[in-house]
Amino acid sequence: MKIVLLGPPGAGKGTQAQRLVETRNIVQLSTGDMLRAAVAAGTPIGIKAKAVMDAGGLVSDDIVIGIVSDRIDENDCRNGFILDGFPRTVAQAEALDRLLAEKGSALDAIIEVIVDEDILMSRIENRIKETLAAGGEVRKDDNPEAFKKRLVAYREQTAPLSEFYASSGRLKTVDGMQSIKLVSELIDEILG
Ligand code: AMP
Repeated sequence: MKIVLLGPPGAGKGTQAQRLVETRNIVQLSTGDMLRAAVAAGTPIGIKAKAVMDAGGLVSDDIVIGIVSDRIDENDCRNGFILDGFPRTVAQAEALDRLLAEKGSALDAIIEVIVDEDILMSRIENRIKETLAAGGEVRKDDNPEAFKKRLVAYREQTAPLSEFYASSGRLKTVDGMQSIKLVSELIDEILG
């Protein structure tokens, strides 16, 4: 099963993706995680991406499409995958369709998690507090300023994706303001 999860930063996509990994025996492909790993490893891609990421902007389409294209060819993706944080632009969505079509495959589900943006800021503040309380390290872009930029990037570059997928009748939506459990159930209903 090949799934795309859409929704603004802080909508709970990562949480839902992790659950689907366990229940559906598929892998989670988070371009954010992959890019953070590249930054930490100091690879050429990481060096290019770091400043943009720290500021809450979007890394170039070429870079992320290349990363995803290589990653979905790996063995552990044979059973399917859930994309979290990709595609983020219409160009990435078109590239994804093309990549899968070349392999004789296609997406099985595109699910948008709809949330109230005003409430996202308090969610992100909670995420920071919880991470610190658990002794974890807070992401560099998890601060109110970068978060606002990520929301703007989402509205300008990623929100048009809903229309892209809706226009071909492929978009399903869930109310992300419900509890994690209920959102999980709604997603399960869509996936069948
Ligand atoms: P995330 O963990 O999904 O919130 O991503 C963290 C950051 O990584 C984003 O703010 C972007 O700078 C970058 N990033 C992740 N995925 C993408 C993507 N598909 N296209 C462009 N930039 C991305």
